[in-house]
Amino acid sequence: MNGTDVAEKPTNSWPSWLPLRKDLINLSAYGAPQREVPVKLNTNENPYSVPNDVANDISHHLESVIKDLNRYPDRDAVKLRDGLAKYINGQSGTQFDRTNIWAANGSNEILQSIFMAFGGTSLGFVPSYSVHPLIANALGIAWREGKRAEDFSLDISLAVETISTVKPTLTFITTPNNPTGSHVPRADIKTIADVVKSVNGLLIIDEAYAEFSDEESAVTLIPENPHIIVVRTMSKAFAFAGARVGYAVADPAVINAMYLVRLPYHLSALTQAAAQVALAHSRELLAHVDQIRKDRLTVAQGIRELGLTVVPSQANFLLFSGFTQPAAHLWDELTSHGVLIRDVGLPGYLRVTIGTSDENQRFIDALKISLRK
Ligand SMILES: *Cc1c(COP(=O)(O)O)cnc(C)c1O
Repeated sequence: MNGTDVAEKPTNSWPSWLPLRKDLINLSAYGAPQREVPVKLNTNENPYSVPNDVANDISHHLESVIKDLNRYPDRDAVKLRDGLAKYINGQSGTQFDRTNIWAANGSNEILQSIFMAFGGTSLGFVPSYSVHPLIANALGIAWREGKRAEDFSLDISLAVETISTVKPTLTFITTPNNPTGSHVPRADIKTIADVVKSVNGLLIIDEAYAEFSDEESAVTLIPENPHIIVVRTMSKAFAFAGARVGYAVADPAVINAMYLVRLPYHLSALTQAAAQVALAHSRELLAHVDQIRKDRLTVAQGIRELGLTVVPSQANFLLFSGFTQPAAHLWDELTSHGVLIRDVGLPGYLRVTIGTSDENQRFIDALKISLRK
């Protein structure tokens, strides 16, 4: 097994009796390779666990929900969507309400619902979040790859040209981008939004790392640009990845389309309750964001001091390069020193998530030793 996002299952090993869709036969399952190591900096999680008082409050609320688990949950997740609207309004000074919000089991499910509702040819700019094309493929939706600049920033004139030529129904921009950490300035988002509008498409802004960024969220563009959908998650900054809560912020017409493709009662009563309590404690759950942003600078500095190069990042991870051995070898070497990071399949690059100060130091120490091998 190597460190890339490749499944352990070899392709074309399906039994002949299995009527698997032809277009799926050569695909492999998504998932970061996992190893039992002390320092896990490979999936961009928040390293800080849920604080005790928040955990106790969640338990307390779940107790009252558990008695009613004989009933289906609120299929429209109304209270949770109210809470999410309030959170976004507090962050961005907007005036959204639940009609602007959709919630699901992680933002991956939100992305899937968007593909299901709007289909059509879809476009992203690589390297970017590999789950976008993965969902497109799973649903049999055409996926096109636009290019980024050499330094992984979005080349706006090239992007505009690509959108004008491809005329996609869905255009995806991830900002801050995964796996590069680079962000797209708001003025450029506006330019992209204009060209997407001219081809009658929708612009999906994946803001999974928004809370770690200096850039203003694209949600403020939605009132004047109803063709923009902002996708967010509680998995990263909120330190709530295990609960699986993602959401979309969009025009009510977009949200109404989500009702057509959602599964009945898709969001469990337990998830809804836990997320509502978490939102009520958002300040505490987000308390480590500033620390992680500071540590991002420290880790970048540490990597540079070893003679390597770091892509400027607005997220909770860093993409680095400049080592001479193949990325898979360095990844393996780091793993053997107890530090798991991510080989994102970009030759010459590896990605590391910002952890606690102790984990970060252990990463730098392991990197120092591994580079000599
Ligand atoms: C982590 C991530 C997501 C998915 O997060 P969920 O846990 O499904 O909410 C979405 N987009 C990007 C760019 C990510 O990195």
